[in-house]
Amino acid sequence: MRLTKKIKGELNELFLFELEDRFAVEAVFYRGDTLCVSTQVGCRVGCRFCASGSKGLFRSLRADEIVKQVELVARERPVKRVAVAGIGEPLANWRSVKEAFFRLKERGLKVSFYTVGSPLKHLRELLSLPHAGVTVSLHALDKEKRRALLPGAGPPDGLIALLEDELPRLSAKKRKKVSLGYLLLRGVNDSEEELRRLATLAKRLGVGVTLLYYNRVGPFEPPTAEEYERAFLLLRSEGVRVTLSTRFRKDRLGGCGTLVVNRL
Ligand code: SF4
Repeated sequence: MRLTKKIKGELNELFLFELEDRFAVEAVFYRGDTLCVSTQVGCRVGCRFCASGSKGLFRSLRADEIVKQVELVARERPVKRVAVAGIGEPLANWRSVKEAFFRLKERGLKVSFYTVGSPLKHLRELLSLPHAGVTVSLHALDKEKRRALLPGAGPPDGLIALLEDELPRLSAKKRKKVSLGYLLLRGVNDSEEELRRLATLAKRLGVGVTLLYYNRVGPFEPPTAEEYERAFLLLRSEGVRVTLSTRFRKDRLGGCGTLVVNRL
């Protein structure tokens, strides 16, 4: 595996790695200390707002291929944190991801995750690890809507039941590191009613909400700045702890959902 390309944007820096079978995956260095790494060559979940899964899944990465992305970038940039949020669903490649997690932890790195939450048994295990954060991508509470947006992610009911079961077992400190990810799509999942349902759920689970910004890689519209702020204020007014997408995640270069698989 070798680093073949670096593209520096205004905010983020994109790194392209060629694998031994000529596939290439991407990682993004952002915020001056964080590397977002890929865990699969493609993705089977096929979220309709994400370029990474648009061609399906070719294969999963081995643990050493996940760790190597960090090693290669750390030679050139001060990587202190790793976000397992690039191409691929981490729980769908759990054995390798878990091994990579412990190897990265041994090096003193803080490791956080973004996941759609299935398979559920792996989510249970992930929540118990000494991670630096887990964002469970919900995006819709309605079963049909979630299926339409995240076809391979499984229904929300089982996911919510698992969180209801598992979160009370965690310490308050640990629970604070878990949040529900919600990508705001204009006219799709941003109605007041849906946001109030989301607030009710977050409060019941005792977790915060991470409001994600859409980078326009699919057929949807991102909300305007005012709509985004309105959603934020609505959740806040319901007493929910809300984290907003940072400008790094909104960037067209390396922002959420923009990473792609290549064949060289
Ligand atoms: S958002 Fe994540 S789970 Fe969904 S298709 Fe993209 S990489 Fe896969």
